[in-house]
Amino acid sequence: MLNKGWRFAGTERKYLDEVLTSGFSAGASGTMNERLENRFSRKHNKQFAITANSGTSTLHMALYAFGVDHGDEVIIPALTVAMCGFVVWQCGAVPVYADVKEDTFLIDPKDIEKKITPKTKAIIPVHLYGLMCDMKAIMRIAEKHNLYVVEDCAQCFLVKDGQDNIAGTIGHVGSWSFENSKHLSTGDGGIVATDDELLAIKMRQFGGVGFKNLTAKNGKVRISRDKFQDPKWKRHNIMGYNYRLPELCAAVGLAQLERIDEFVALRRAMGLSYYKTIEDSGTDLLIPQITPDGYAHSYYTFAALFNGEKYGISWQEFRQRYIQFGGDGIYAAWQTVNNEPAFKDNAIGWGVVLVAERLQKKMMQFTTNQMDQKERDIQITALKKTFESYSAKCRIGG
Ligand SMILES: *Cc1c(COP(=O)(O)O)cnc(C)c1O
Repeated sequence: MLNKGWRFAGTERKYLDEVLTSGFSAGASGTMNERLENRFSRKHNKQFAITANSGTSTLHMALYAFGVDHGDEVIIPALTVAMCGFVVWQCGAVPVYADVKEDTFLIDPKDIEKKITPKTKAIIPVHLYGLMCDMKAIMRIAEKHNLYVVEDCAQCFLVKDGQDNIAGTIGHVGSWSFENSKHLSTGDGGIVATDDELLAIKMRQFGGVGFKNLTAKNGKVRISRDKFQDPKWKRHNIMGYNYRLPELCAAVGLAQLERIDEFVALRRAMGLSYYKTIEDSGTDLLIPQITPDGYAHSYYTFAALFNGEKYGISWQEFRQRYIQFGGDGIYAAWQTVNNEPAFKDNAIGWGVVLVAERLQKKMMQFTTNQMDQKERDIQITALKKTFESYSAKCRIGG
């Protein structure tokens, strides 16, 4: 059996024990949530970080802080998880689908510009699969049209773009997920980072059920006992949601963050091995996501377009064969958001996205959460054998 606990073999249990032993009260260096926020914001050179119970909640918090409201429009890439559309709907606003680029699979700044209307309030660029969008172009558009930007970094940790900027530090807010499939896991969880104090206060209060004591830096509700125990004390200034991250999850998150560089390095090693295997094979059965010059990739997953139909090989057949040779399986891309029944059947959102729809059908996503070289070798061997098995049908070996 695979050792599924290897990702949690650091200081997770120590911190969990601290929380339980202290009866959920703060230690000398603060609560686990405060410690996680401090460490995360330092790592990203940001003034403020705010934890939440998911990477969907964090996006909702950001849109609320931007003032996104009924009748507004928010531009999202069509090729992404549906949650990017759900959070727009949760604000009473309309998701507008932007198309993606053929080579990077990421939101196309040119199409963003085409989809801007007087109602547009914000853009959610999604750094899909571990690669950053063209943030320079996106911020130029945002500034020109006075729009807010929240970078969805759920799949992208601590990599840089061609301008040497870290993912999540360029837009007004950066948003990450700690759901279990992501680089860092707290089972479920998320975090936002920003340098804007007003946005930070709004995000924390909105996700903290509107408690007025919450500040940009501090997630504590009970500041002064004498005030808090007074019958005249009023607690809530705004309507909000309870999006708090439980202390036990924050304890795991703090331990996970200590190993973030290692986790990213492991995924990069697996991603680069797939890339090299495809390059060395000399076949065009798979066309990998292109990493533009100067960019780094954190390989949340390794994504490539399946090109076998022209040789009469089906997507399903290729996947089955890869699994037969010991491969971990291949994931398809989600339906584009506009084509998910929740959106399509309810006529939520607008925007023609022909490239995204075409790529979605061809996408293959390979796992990158292998523990060590031995596990990576299993995937690479399976991929090589799969290619070789098709050598009679299509040119292999360059
Ligand atoms: C996982 C993910 C989310 C949602 O995060 P949750 O923590 O699962 O709510 C949002 N955007 C992207 C790109 C994701 O991959």
